[in-house]
Amino acid sequence: PEEQRLQKYLARSGVASRRACEQLIAEGRVTVNGAVVQRSGTTVVAGADEVAVDGTPVKPPESSVTLMLHKPPRVLTTMDDPQGRPTVAALVPAERYPGLFPVGRLDADTTGLLLFTNNGQLGNSLIHPRRHVEKTYLALVEGEPAPREMEALRTGVRLEDGPTLPARACVLPLAQARSVAAQLGWSLKGGRRIVELAITEGRNRQVRRMLAAVGHPVLQLHRSRLADLSLGDLEPGQWRLLTDGEVAKLA
Ligand code: URA
Repeated sequence: PEEQRLQKYLARSGVASRRACEQLIAEGRVTVNGAVVQRSGTTVVAGADEVAVDGTPVKPPESSVTLMLHKPPRVLTTMDDPQGRPTVAALVPAERYPGLFPVGRLDADTTGLLLFTNNGQLGNSLIHPRRHVEKTYLALVEGEPAPREMEALRTGVRLEDGPTLPARACVLPLAQARSVAAQLGWSLKGGRRIVELAITEGRNRQVRRMLAAVGHPVLQLHRSRLADLSLGDLEPGQWRLLTDGEVAKLA
């Protein structure tokens, strides 16, 4: 636990900009361990000192935080790309929550629910192969999969790196497919269908490879759910913090 200047602690906790936080301190609105502090040089230790603004406790910035992003297309799932391409890092509050990292990965072209956390234990547990966290995808595919092809997706298809585990899979009824396509900006022309596929593994490009293996290449891919979580009203590029209840269910 490191000492840091009060205004920096407040700014990193998301209260306001550092300049505005200096103002709050000068105005006597900030307390440390119950006492008003108006000297801007004051230092605090995150987690040890209790800091409040107008009586409301300010959580230390390194406390555990988990959020979901509606990942838009054409951004890489990494916090830093050496080649300077667009990444998810620019879309999440990475400065406010140091140590934030994506849980698992979506392909550059895949959209949808991507979790971030600064809690290494939670992040690692969620992607652990034995944990079998269910991830649900909507895939726009070429052609209409036959019942036996859907059955193959459910029981397991042979991929280069071994057979896949049992999965849930269905072809969306056309009315539902039309509404999903309208929402995601997909085109159902030429007899395309939307397959909902829920897998509990997380191999590289797994959904694309599974559907290609049964003869229905993926044209568009979207992750709609992870465990109990779904995007709700989040627009592409937007994020929101998970509630404590949502985090507790994941842990
Ligand atoms: N499966 C894929 O093929 N791509 C993703 O982005 C996620 C799962």
